[in-house]
Amino acid sequence: MLLGIVVKAYSSYYYVQTGGKVTACSLRGRFKKERFSLLVGDEVAYSAAGPDKGVIEEIMPRRSLLRRPMVANVDQVVLTFAAVNPDIGTALVDRFLVLAEWSGLEAVLCVNKTDIADTSALAPLAELYRAVGYPVFMVSAKTGSGMEELRGRLYDRITVFAGPSGAGKSSLLNALQPGLSLVTGEVSRKIGRGKHTTRFAELLPLAGGGFVVDTPGFSLTEFATIGEPELPYYFPDIAAAAAGCKFSTCLHVKEPQCAVKQAVTEGRIARSRYDSYLEVLEEIRAAKKGF
Ligand code: GDP
Ligand code: ZN
Repeated sequence: MLLGIVVKAYSSYYYVQTGGKVTACSLRGRFKKERFSLLVGDEVAYSAAGPDKGVIEEIMPRRSLLRRPMVANVDQVVLTFAAVNPDIGTALVDRFLVLAEWSGLEAVLCVNKTDIADTSALAPLAELYRAVGYPVFMVSAKTGSGMEELRGRLYDRITVFAGPSGAGKSSLLNALQPGLSLVTGEVSRKIGRGKHTTRFAELLPLAGGGFVVDTPGFSLTEFATIGEPELPYYFPDIAAAAAGCKFSTCLHVKEPQCAVKQAVTEGRIARSRYDSYLEVLEEIRAAKKGF
């Protein structure tokens, strides 16, 4: 038996990668009724059934599950923003970070298009997020600047990209793996969502080891299902300070003896982070009232 990772599901076949080789596998009969539970990203054991063909005998336990797109075992999300055009801002960054934390993914920030930006002006923003605990990469998909560092972070993991439209996600994927040639920019807009209309994502192997999901991850429409009491946990800086609040149910808005507000006053938590927190909390409350 061989071990591999499902990189693509198409018609009734699962394409399983082992080392540099991909084998088209069918599912052993007893799995058939659970057909839809096998996902791209799943680790499987399979037996050979002819040249480049195999039969999946066993499915390994999952480490994680991303729902949109449906991919198993994603380790991290690279939240991609453009330094300019469209300009990066803390409010938008924080919103994507909430979704990353909520999805249980490690998050790293990637600031793209540094070739057309004043990078020294971006230093405080990078510093802010590094202080919260997120790695920050300054890159240019166009010139390749910073790409080696980013590549190092993708090694041996399954990574999904997410971020606002136009930030350069497709361009980055192309730059990471020449030859993929995903549809970018103007063209992809003209033909709708381009090749990403397929229901299932694919894993693209990286030359150095590791995979990237070919379809961008979550979008900002997914806040509604987050509960108020859990929200502070999706801001690591706020969650850390919250241990000192008088009330264990403190939501850090108007409660007395709130250690979070104290930390904001003293500059230990960035004002912009707290503002983002309040904004998302307000949205969650408004969404609830709407129902
Ligand atoms: P996506 O919507 O996030 O997938 O973004 P795209 O990859 O389609 O890129 C959006 C636009 O930004 C395209 O016109 C790209 O050519 C451009 N772009 C992407 N990366 C860079 C970069 O590093 N520098 C510059 N100057 N432009 C870039
Ligand atoms: Zn509090």
